[in-house]
Amino acid sequence: MSEQSPAGSEHTGPVVDGPADPEHDATAAYALDRTYVAGLTARVVSTTGTTHPVSSPIGGAPLAHLPQSGPDDVAEAFGRARRAQAAWAGTSLDERAAALLRLHDLLLERQEELIDLVVWESGKARKDAYLEVAHLALTARYYARTAHEHLDSRRVGGMFPLLTRAEVHRVPKGVVGIISPWNYPLTMALCDGIPALLAGNAVVAKPDLQTMLTALLAARLLDEAGFPPELWQVVSGTGPEVGGAVVAAADYVCFTGSTATGRLIARQCADRLVGCSLELGGKNPMMVLRDADVHRAAEGAVRAVFSNAGQLCVSMERLYVADQVYDRFVDAFVARTQAMTLGASQDWNVDMGSLISQAQLDTVTAHVEDAVAKGATVLAGGRARPDLGPFVFEPTILEGVSVDMECFARETFGPVVSLYRFHSEDEAIARANDGHYGLNASVWTRDTARGRAVARRIRCGTVNVNEAYGATFGSLGAPMGGMRESGTGRRQGAEGVLRYTETQSVATQRLVPIAPMFGMSEQTHAKVMTQALRLLNRLGRA
Ligand code: NAD
Repeated sequence: MSEQSPAGSEHTGPVVDGPADPEHDATAAYALDRTYVAGLTARVVSTTGTTHPVSSPIGGAPLAHLPQSGPDDVAEAFGRARRAQAAWAGTSLDERAAALLRLHDLLLERQEELIDLVVWESGKARKDAYLEVAHLALTARYYARTAHEHLDSRRVGGMFPLLTRAEVHRVPKGVVGIISPWNYPLTMALCDGIPALLAGNAVVAKPDLQTMLTALLAARLLDEAGFPPELWQVVSGTGPEVGGAVVAAADYVCFTGSTATGRLIARQCADRLVGCSLELGGKNPMMVLRDADVHRAAEGAVRAVFSNAGQLCVSMERLYVADQVYDRFVDAFVARTQAMTLGASQDWNVDMGSLISQAQLDTVTAHVEDAVAKGATVLAGGRARPDLGPFVFEPTILEGVSVDMECFARETFGPVVSLYRFHSEDEAIARANDGHYGLNASVWTRDTARGRAVARRIRCGTVNVNEAYGATFGSLGAPMGGMRESGTGRRQGAEGVLRYTETQSVATQRLVPIAPMFGMSEQTHAKVMTQALRLLNRLGRA
C-alpha cells in the first residue's frame, strides 16, 4: 500500500491555518478560518451559551466550538419553522422547483469549498467527498424536474360516473425533523430535506455533532438558492437530548443512522402517531458469479468495500465468490487493494481516507483482532496506521471468517470484508439472504439477464448488477432504502417525496345523494344500487 503525506496541500476555498482561538485554546492551530466558522455556526439555534469542541481526523486539528441547543432552542426552532411553513405551503411548485435548480448550480459552483469542509470534518478521501456533491446535485435536479409528476393534484374515478367527482391532493406534513449521521456529511444533510421542501414542508435538522459545519454550509446554500432562511432550522447537540426533542416535536421524522437508534425513534414516533422513515444499517453481500469478468469484478470490489473507508451504509462487508473463479478473483482483488494510496489529507490522489473517529477505529480494530484471534486469515491490510493519521486503518481482506466471529454478521462500518467461496448459485443466494439486514447487494456476471434474475431473489432494498452501489444510488427515480432491519420507508423516487405528504381526497356529489331518494325505501335503494353496481361492472368501470 502506498502512502500519502498526512499534511495535504491542494485544498482551496476559505480553509486556511487560522490563528488560535484565545477563548478556548490559546495554543491550538485551527484548521479553519475563525471568522468563516463563526459565520457558519451563527445559523445554529442556540441560547445555552455552551459549546462542543470538534477536531479533524486530519492530524487532530481543532475545527470549531459548536454552539449547543437546549430544549427551549428546539422549541424556538420548531416555532420559526412552523411560521415559515405556513407561508411556504402557499408558494407554487414551479417556484420551489426553480429554487432547487438554483441549488443544483450552487452546489457545482461551490464544490471546492464544500469538499474542503467535508474532508476536514470527516477525513475521507477527496474523491468520496466529490461524490456527495454530485449526488446532491442529481437529487436537486431530479426533484425539480419531477415536481408536477409527483405532487400535482389528480382526478380519480368517482363513485358514480358524472355524478361523483373525486380528486386527490398532496398536503405537506408540516415540519419534518431530519436526524442525520456523520458518514456522508453533505449528502445526509440535504438529500432527504430537498424533497421535503419541494412538497411544501419546513425542516428542523439535527446533524451529527462531528459534521455540523458541512450541514451549516449546506443550509447557507439553501438560503442563497432562494429558500426562505426560516424554513430550514438547524439545532445542535447530542442524539438522545436534542435528537430526542426533535422527534418529540416533529410532524414527521426522517432518520438515518444505526438500527439501534432507529428502533428507539420508531417507538417514540409510534407513541405520538407520527410517521417516520428509517434508513439504517446493513451487512451487505456482493456475489461474483462463475462467469464474471474477474478483473472488472475485482476493480468493482475495491469500490464496493473501501469507498469512504467502508463507512458507507451500502458498502459491502461480505463477498461470495464462485468456486470456478475464486482464486483468480482473490489474486486480483488483493493486488488492487495493496496498491491503494492511503492518507488523511486534502489531496485528490488519496484512494482511501481516514476513519472519522477513535470510536470507529476501535470498532474496526476490535472486529479484525477478534477474527484473527479466532482463526481468520488476513489477506491484505489488517493494521491501524497512526503514521498516516490518528484514525487511519488499512483496507483489509479476511478469509476463513466463521459464525462465532464479531464481523460475521455485525456491521463493522469500516474497510473490512470477509471472503467466502460458494459452489452453487442457490447456496450463494441463501447465504446472501442470511441475517437480519436487507439494505444493498451487488451481483457480478457477464450475463446481465441472469444477474437481474439473481437480483430478484435477494431480499435487499437495492441490488446493483455489475456495480457496487452507485448504479442504484445515482438513479434518482429508483427508491433507495432497506428491507428487514435495514429500515422502513425509502428515499429517492416517488416514495422519497410522497412520504412528506398526506393525501387529501375531495369528492363532490351532484344531482343525486348516495342515499334513498323520492321516498324510496332502504330495500328499494339497495336493489337500485345493486343494479347500478352490476351495470358498472359490465361497462368495465373502476
Ligand atoms: P447513530 O444512530 O448513533 O446516530 C445517527 C444520528 O442520530 C446522529 O445525528 C445522532 O446524534 C442521532 N441520535 C443518536 N441517538 C439518538 C436518539 N436516541 N434520538 C434521536 N437521535 C439520536 O448512528 P451512527 O453510528 O452515527 O451512524 C452510522 C450508522 O448509520 C451505521 O449503522 C450506518 O449503516 C447507518 N447509515 C445508514 C444509511 C442508510 O441510508 N441506510 C446511511 C448512512 C448511515
